[in-house]
Amino acid sequence: MRHRLILRNITQTFEDGGMHRTVLDHLNLQVAEGELVAVMGPSGSGKSTFLSIAGALLEPTGGDVLLDGESIIGKEKQELADMRLHKLGFIFQSANLIPYLKVEEQLLLIAKLGGMDNSRASGRARGLLHKLGLSQRLSAYPEKLSGGERQRVAIGRALMMDPAVLLADEPTASLDASRGMDVVQMLACEAREMGKCVVMVTHDERVLTLCDRVLYLKNGRLTENG
Ligand code: ADP
Ligand code: MG
Repeated sequence: MRHRLILRNITQTFEDGGMHRTVLDHLNLQVAEGELVAVMGPSGSGKSTFLSIAGALLEPTGGDVLLDGESIIGKEKQELADMRLHKLGFIFQSANLIPYLKVEEQLLLIAKLGGMDNSRASGRARGLLHKLGLSQRLSAYPEKLSGGERQRVAIGRALMMDPAVLLADEPTASLDASRGMDVVQMLACEAREMGKCVVMVTHDERVLTLCDRVLYLKNGRLTENG
């Protein structure tokens, strides 16, 4: 079993008016290919900090992160940006689509940034959008889409470069129950069929049955008991 994402002894402290506050305290996590892991925890427990570190957006105060076997620590900015582009897909609470790009263009932009050649990019974008049930919406602008459709475009965009690791921060928060289940079902499917690993921060109890593991962020660590 290959571990796609490993967080080893992660510590994160923030300075707050001269005081040091430890948000993550020797946190450990290993996620294998094919796994969908849910992370829960109250507001302020450090979930977004944890995802930012797992996603190489924030260098931790201590510890190491391995993305598909490669450490993010001590990398130059450009190297990190390349790792994020090729190894990671991010899905946020709101889809964060670019308002002036059509659905298909949202995916093609990522391909362009990632250096994928045009014909391959076009085929891949259409294939993903078809799988996500968006074939009829290729030329729509985000404002014309429903919340569920926007979130599916965001998933397509996150998958464009075929990343090893998908990170989602409350991806169902803006969706109704059935759309929320659909979105998490798609993430589960990506994990299992494409050998990715998915880590999803969520408050949504309804989607937990679709996850392989549910972890709780408590006192700066991940535990299996809420
Ligand atoms: P959650 O996503 O679980 O609500 P966060 O990771 O956003 O929690 O925040 C955890 C704690 O870390 C909070 O107390 C927050 O104020 C603090 N924190 C987060 N980012 C910073 C930062 N850049 N500087 C100082 N404190 C921060
Ligand atoms: Mg948060």
